[in-house]
Amino acid sequence: MFTSPSRSMSRWLFWSAGIVASYVLLAWLVLGVRSTEIVLWPSAAVAAFALITRGPSMVPAVLLASWVSNYLLLGWGLQASLIIAAGDALGPLLGWWVLRRRPARWQEFQTTSDAIWFIAAMGMMAAAVSAAVGATAAAFYGIGHTPLTPDLGVQWWVTDMTSIVVLTPAAALLRALSWEEMKASLHWETVLAPLLALVGTLLTYTMPTGQSALPIGLASLVFLPLLWTAMRLPLAVSASLNALIAVVIVTATVLHHGPMYSMLGSDRFVSMQIILLAMAAALLLAGLLANERSQALKQVRDINATLEKKVNRRTAALQIAQATTQAQLRFQESLLNALPNPVAFSDPQGRFTRVNVAFNLLVGLGGPEIHGRTGTQILGTTLGRIWEEMDHELLSGSQQATREAPYLHPDHEPTVWILNKALVRDAVSRQIVGVVTSMQDITALKQLQQQLSEDEQRFRFLAEESPVPLVITRTTDAALLFSNKAADALFRGSYAQYAGQSMRHLWGDSVSRDQLLQRLQREGGVVRGMEAQFRRFDGTEVWLLLSVTRGRYRDDDALIFAFKDITEVKARESELRNLAYTDTLTGIPNRRYFMARAAAELRRAQREGTPFAVLALDIDRFKLVNDQLGHQTGDAVIRCFAQTCMQQLRGQDLCGRLGGDEFAILLPQTNRQVAFDVAQRLRLAIQEASCLPPASQIGMTLTTSIGIAEFLPISSISDSDELLDRADQALYRAKESGRNRVEIWTAEPGAPV
Ligand code: GH3
Ligand code: MG
Repeated sequence: MFTSPSRSMSRWLFWSAGIVASYVLLAWLVLGVRSTEIVLWPSAAVAAFALITRGPSMVPAVLLASWVSNYLLLGWGLQASLIIAAGDALGPLLGWWVLRRRPARWQEFQTTSDAIWFIAAMGMMAAAVSAAVGATAAAFYGIGHTPLTPDLGVQWWVTDMTSIVVLTPAAALLRALSWEEMKASLHWETVLAPLLALVGTLLTYTMPTGQSALPIGLASLVFLPLLWTAMRLPLAVSASLNALIAVVIVTATVLHHGPMYSMLGSDRFVSMQIILLAMAAALLLAGLLANERSQALKQVRDINATLEKKVNRRTAALQIAQATTQAQLRFQESLLNALPNPVAFSDPQGRFTRVNVAFNLLVGLGGPEIHGRTGTQILGTTLGRIWEEMDHELLSGSQQATREAPYLHPDHEPTVWILNKALVRDAVSRQIVGVVTSMQDITALKQLQQQLSEDEQRFRFLAEESPVPLVITRTTDAALLFSNKAADALFRGSYAQYAGQSMRHLWGDSVSRDQLLQRLQREGGVVRGMEAQFRRFDGTEVWLLLSVTRGRYRDDDALIFAFKDITEVKARESELRNLAYTDTLTGIPNRRYFMARAAAELRRAQREGTPFAVLALDIDRFKLVNDQLGHQTGDAVIRCFAQTCMQQLRGQDLCGRLGGDEFAILLPQTNRQVAFDVAQRLRLAIQEASCLPPASQIGMTLTTSIGIAEFLPISSISDSDELLDRADQALYRAKESGRNRVEIWTAEPGAPV
């Protein structure tokens, strides 16, 4: 706590004044009794009190008070008084210093060792210092004509010591006594004992002096209630009572009353001082012992109370834990019994320890009939043996066991179960304490499976034996998953040979399969009537009509194909198509095809702005061939003529037979000069070809006349017929001009080009 300097100064002044006043007043009172010898010197107790309660700051007050008392009241010399006063201050100062430096700090009468140290340091040592200094000064200055003897020093010392030990604790303790403490200790015996001690003392020491020793013995009885007080009341009360009794004894004796006065000379005072000292020391120690004892008891009680609280708390926690555990157990029990699946616990020896209601119902036995018995005993040999085998597997190291097993009950239809087993371990020690088994009825599932597999076998037979070729491939990679006999025959390779291999290469082209997949996507998984060309395993080609559905086969996304062989239909179709466009005698395009191509070329030339040419050819005097060599040779000559023309032409050129001995040739992207060259080459080739027997034999050579018409983007021609007509006109001119020649169409003078 903070105390301001002026405030502590005024407190110091207040205390100093109080000390000086009480010191001087008590000295004046004691001296006033005018006894020849002084039994108690209370001022010494005041000095000790000042030092132990306020510390060295009281030294000036003690010094002043002692000097005033010695100089003014006793009338001793100034110097002697000063030296004595110094001794009176130095003694308690040293006592204070020693007490503060105790190994266990001085606490002001809290423990018995406080009392012993107080008696030693403040009672004996402080008194010894002031007595030594005082007695020496008194002898030196010849006060009271006393020589310096050990007697004087001892008397001084004992008197100071008695005063300090008897009076100082009372003063120091009273200061700290609280009314609450006082009230708490009040009791009939605590009032009665001090009263007894006080009244006894008064009675003993105020009776007239006699020579018998009995009163002294009686006087010592006062000890009893005093000790009682020391043990049961606050130390402040017993110390004060003791100080009061001491003052009564001393006063009575000094006033020539009581048993002590009967003693001789100075003995009466010395014995009295010793009794008072012993009484005070005994009281102090007894009080503090009782104090320590009650402190210890209180501590024990506190510890007990804390322990009790802890025990109560632990007990409450245990009760809660127990209740929780019980609630959990009840919950587990109800959960177990609510399960539709039979569940059983068994110990490591395979004996049932606990089962649920579903298990009871399954085996038709109650808990007590089941507990302690084994799998085979309760479940029969078939299921029981599997049960025990699984237990054995689990206990010899596998983590979890699952098995399927039939249960044959004498009163029911056979059922099929899945058993799931797991080890049960102790939550704390992790030791195996048993096995838990849960059972699931899969009878219905098994029947369904059976049904399904029978159905599948029937369908498989149907598919296998169907005359319609059927193939199943995986959607992702076209792997072959199934093909029936008809499909094997169609593709000329067996399923056994190609199972699992990709069938992609069987498709005739690379895009058809992708187109099929797109159509399946678009058309909801089914495509009917798609035509596609395939290659058989032996490499031959085949046209098929497809019906495809997308679905699952076993575990795969699959395409299921049904085929119809349409190779023959396709061949016929193509034949018919060819017949429409081909000249049957020569195999080269007929007039219809040629004219269609000429029309297309004209459109292209108009679009692209390029020229092209048309050649019209007619065999010279063919009638003669027919007439001389026969119609059949004529046919052969026509075929030979066609072949010779074909040999002379480029890939993009087109040669067609228009009819009879008339042919036409289309030369795309060709102008009239180049066309003329081509025509000349053709004419010569025909002349050279040996389509006829040698001229030497038959007297004639096969020649041809050729007319050329050129299409120019700028020309007014908009029709291929017109162009061919011009070529014909040119051909006519060639015939006119003597045959075996080439003529280019030119406009009549004045005609449009
Ligand atoms: P030109 O030099 O003026 O053309 O005299 P040509 O004798 O060749 O007269 P033209 O071209 O008018 O006669 C063609 C003859 O070809 C008429 C016909 O009998 C004959 N012929 C037409 N088609 C065939 C055929 O397919 N086979 C045979 N062997 N002869 C045919
Ligand atoms: Mg002809």
